[in-house]
Amino acid sequence: MPSRPIKQLYFSVKPNRGAGRQDALSHIEEAAVLSPINGKVVVVTGASRGIGKGIAEVFASSGAHVAVVARSADAATACADALKAAGGEAAPFVADVGDRRSMNDMASSVAAHYGGIEIVCANAGIFPSATLEDMSAQAWDDVLNTNARGALFTLQACLPWLKRAESGRVILTSSITGPVTGYPGWAHYAASKAAQLGFMRSAALELAPYQITINAVLPGNVMTEGLSDLGPDYIDRMSHAIPLKRLGSVKDIAWAALFLASREASFITGQTLIVDGGQTLPESLDAL
Ligand code: NAP
Repeated sequence: MPSRPIKQLYFSVKPNRGAGRQDALSHIEEAAVLSPINGKVVVVTGASRGIGKGIAEVFASSGAHVAVVARSADAATACADALKAAGGEAAPFVADVGDRRSMNDMASSVAAHYGGIEIVCANAGIFPSATLEDMSAQAWDDVLNTNARGALFTLQACLPWLKRAESGRVILTSSITGPVTGYPGWAHYAASKAAQLGFMRSAALELAPYQITINAVLPGNVMTEGLSDLGPDYIDRMSHAIPLKRLGSVKDIAWAALFLASREASFITGQTLIVDGGQTLPESLDAL
C-alpha cells in the first residue's frame, strides 16, 4: 500500500463562510477531527491477512508503530516489510493467541523493541462452520479458545504496558454474528463473538481506573481471505443482503478501529460500533 501523508487521513473542518466569520474561523480550516497517533505503539493480532492486515496498514499510514502479530514468522515478516516499504514503522512478532505463554513473550518483545504498548487490536479469529449435529467438543473449544479466550490472553499479556500508557486503548474485532444476528452453522462462532462483548463490558470497568478504554468493532461481511474461503455462493448471498450492496473492505473496519484508538474517543468505553453497510437494519427482505 502506498504511504499517504498523515493529513490526508483526517477530515478537514469546513469553516463557516458567513460575513465576518471567515477570519475568526480560518485557523480551523486545516484542523483535523482526529488527532494524529504518531509514534503510538499498537499490537495487532491476526495481522498476517484480512482485517488485521488492513488495521495494520491504516495504523501504520497514520504514523503508529505497528507490532504485526501472526502465527507464521514468514507471514508476519512479509506484512511488516510491506508496511515499512510503504513508509510506515512496523516489526513482526510470532505468537498464538490461544497460548498464554507465547502471548506474554510477544508482549515483552514488543515492549522491549518499541518501549511500551499503548493500543491493542485483538483481532485474530477463526470462523469454521459446523452444524449442531456435527459440532464436536473440540470444534467448540477451538473457536471459543481462539476468539474469546484469545482476547483475554491478548489483553492480559499487554496489560502491564497499557497501564503505564497515558490512556491505553483496546479494540476487539467482534462480529454482528452472535451479538446481533445468527447464521446456521456458526453457533460456536456466534457464542464466541457474543462472549467477547460480555468480556469487554466487565473489562471496561476494571480498566477504567487506569484510563484504559476497551471497545468493539462489529463487522458485517468483509471481503477477506477467510471470507473467500466460504465460497462464491456465500459471498453472492451476502452482497445481496447488504443495503449498501457491497461487502465491506478491510479498511472500513480499520477506520472504525482507528477512531476508537484516537484521542477523540477517550470518553467511549465498553461500547460497540457496527460496521456492516446496513446489513442488520432490514425488518424484512422487502426492505432490501
Ligand atoms: P482471516 O482472513 O481468516 O484472517 C484471520 C487472521 O487471524 C489471520 O491473520 C490468522 O493468522 C489469525 N489467527 C487465527 N488464529 C490465530 C491464532 N490462534 N493466533 C494468532 N493469530 C491467529 O479472517 P478475517 O476475515 O480477517 O477476520 C478477522 C477477524 O474479524 C476475526 O476475529 C473474525 O471473526 C472477524 N470478523 C470477520 C468478518 C468477515 O466478514 N471477514 C466479519 C465479522 C468479524 P494465521 O496466519 O496465523 O492463520
